[in-house]
Amino acid sequence: MTARVLVVDDVSANVKLLEARLSAEYFDVVTAMSGFEALSVCERAECDIVLLDVMMPDMDGFEVCRRIKNNPATHYIPVVMVTALDQPSDRVRGLEAGADDFLTKPVSDVALIARVRSLARLKMVTDELRMRAVTSKEIGIENPSLEAVVETGRNGRVLVVDDRQASYERLATMLAAEHQVDVEPDPNEALFHAADGDYDLLIVSLALENFDALRLCSQVRSLERTRNLPILAVSDADNNARLVRGLEIGVNDYLLRPVDKNELLARARSQIRKKRYTERLRDNVQMSIEMAITDALTGLYNRRYMETHLSTLIDQMLGRGKPLSVLIVDIDYFKAVNDNHGHDAGDDVLREFAMRVRKSIRGIDLACRYGGEEFVIVMPETDMTVATMVAERLRRRIASDPFSIGQDQNKIEVTISIGIAALSDAKDTAAAMLKRADQALYRAKRDGRNRVVPSAA
Ligand code: GH3
Ligand code: MG
Ligand code: MG
Repeated sequence: MTARVLVVDDVSANVKLLEARLSAEYFDVVTAMSGFEALSVCERAECDIVLLDVMMPDMDGFEVCRRIKNNPATHYIPVVMVTALDQPSDRVRGLEAGADDFLTKPVSDVALIARVRSLARLKMVTDELRMRAVTSKEIGIENPSLEAVVETGRNGRVLVVDDRQASYERLATMLAAEHQVDVEPDPNEALFHAADGDYDLLIVSLALENFDALRLCSQVRSLERTRNLPILAVSDADNNARLVRGLEIGVNDYLLRPVDKNELLARARSQIRKKRYTERLRDNVQMSIEMAITDALTGLYNRRYMETHLSTLIDQMLGRGKPLSVLIVDIDYFKAVNDNHGHDAGDDVLREFAMRVRKSIRGIDLACRYGGEEFVIVMPETDMTVATMVAERLRRRIASDPFSIGQDQNKIEVTISIGIAALSDAKDTAAAMLKRADQALYRAKRDGRNRVVPSAA
């Protein structure tokens, strides 16, 4: 997918120049001649990255950036400030406004393409996550993009990898103003240290003695545990080629020596903010996956998940010549619980029941809420005889110990009926097994409830 870059500059010659260079690298380009125009392009989500001139009449680039970053609808769009003044104070102002990066006029081709490419890559990852997170928003989970606006990027855990004492002491002292800092002076230990430490940011000196810092960066990128750890490289000014290489292999940002304290802090904050935002999106996606497969009231798996999983398990067990059994469990006269004690009391019973089920089964068994007061338990590697014993034990556990309901913890008697089916032959299916178990359950009900009935087949 081609990234679409919005070029914002009040001077049309500048716009044309950047447009030509980006187009030559196969980026799509849209342009805006003022801050207001740029904001509306962003709001319509018509661009992936913004290249923003600082000096513009009406609204300057800092203000445009601040507005993009403070608006939950647009704040995730990466912004690169393009400034004529190569002043650290200007860069810091840009980063304070929330800019993700900046370029200095005249813009070098290498820097332009490297920066835009690396931000485009990051944006693709977060877009994917955001898209999935929209689903979780629809089912009522906190909107992660709102939270991200208030994330400060302070109080991070930072690991500095640098083998020159004067240099790492200086970095650590500057960072300590806002973060918890560890130093690893031995590059050979750095990867392990980073993997063990639950860090928010890794700062790597590119000028390590007898050790290729870029190799370390690429290892950090490929190791599962550190894949999402942002890397900030510290480079000597004369090392442009290595820097570009670093950005290509996944270094997120860099600083040139001598390191300016404010710039260091601003860049560290910006990386940590981005990492925490991405993490939150990831958690959100994880949560929505869990919500999609579990039942909210009982925390057991839901019917859809069980049915899919049961088919997989059947194939697996048939392949290995192992047995498999399925229980359908239905609470007896449950309607009467609702009628006599209220719907909330009914919910209490369902929750408590689910808890007792969880305690009665093994880790590899799968318990699910099949319908209102009907449950299915799938037991791999379990034949009819053992399944009947398990079912009988569960039946007793429910019947012998009354359930507490409501505020007053009143006790009520609950019983269940259980139908069982065992995997028969290679032609057996999930639907057929569930049907047999259901027929057995029907017999258990008909014969007086509070009992276990194995299906004949
Ligand atoms: P049987 O012994 O034949 O199974 O009788 P029963 O009353 O348990 O069966 P029936 O299917 O007639 O009634 C089931 C009841 O379960 C009706 C429904 O209102 C109630 N129910 C279903 N889901 C929930 C729920 O989430 N919470 C509560 N409190 N009740 C529920
Ligand atoms: Mg019932
Ligand atoms: Mg029922």
